[in-house]
Amino acid sequence: MRFLCFGGSFNPIHNGHLVCARATAEALGYDRVILIPAAHPPHKVAGAEFAEPEHRLEMCRLATTLEPQLFEVDDIELHRPPPSYTIDTVRQLRQVRNWKEVHWLIGADMLMYLPKWRDPEALLRETQFVVMRRPGTEIAWSALPPAYSQLRRHVAETPLLDISSTDIRRRVATGKSVEYLVPPGVAGYVREHGLYRAG
Ligand code: ATP
Repeated sequence: MRFLCFGGSFNPIHNGHLVCARATAEALGYDRVILIPAAHPPHKVAGAEFAEPEHRLEMCRLATTLEPQLFEVDDIELHRPPPSYTIDTVRQLRQVRNWKEVHWLIGADMLMYLPKWRDPEALLRETQFVVMRRPGTEIAWSALPPAYSQLRRHVAETPLLDISSTDIRRRVATGKSVEYLVPPGVAGYVREHGLYRAG
């Protein structure tokens, strides 16, 4: 079995995440995609629009019920005190769960930010990153340290879907529908729990 980890704040998970992760798995031959919601992404500021980890985890679970043969959810980062650093998760998977390799999916916007993640050199050595393109972000290889060039071979051909959690939160806050942007179960959960509403 080939596993592809997919970390994120998933605040909330949306169809951009799911469709692009599935396309990556199909293109690069992964059997399962493991969604790993972060306890508190170090690059995001906590605030009213940041849903509690329990909510974000449950929305990931709801999203995966539509394709359980491909997707699963792992709450590994929610058992550690925040912030969640990917290097800690990668080491936990290798040392505690005895994974031989860790393959980790990121969007192009995150790739450009990767040098600022905790312990980037070690992270690059110990992790096989797989990159998906994302509308609005040109991958500027020359702006990245030379060691990142190896990732050129690991850019997956995925659809370009201009969907973001930020836009979804804004839509909810202004009373707009988020149907078709998130799985139906997630839209229902956001409504039922009054997430992302203004005020
Ligand atoms: P926000 O708008 O709150 O910043 P987001 O939509 O970027 O959220 P995250 O949960 O932060 O969602 O993203 C998790 C991972 O998925 C990141 O690596 C991000 O680059 C990637 N990603 C998110 N949306 C897309 C998309 N539409 N296409 C490709 N990659 C995406």
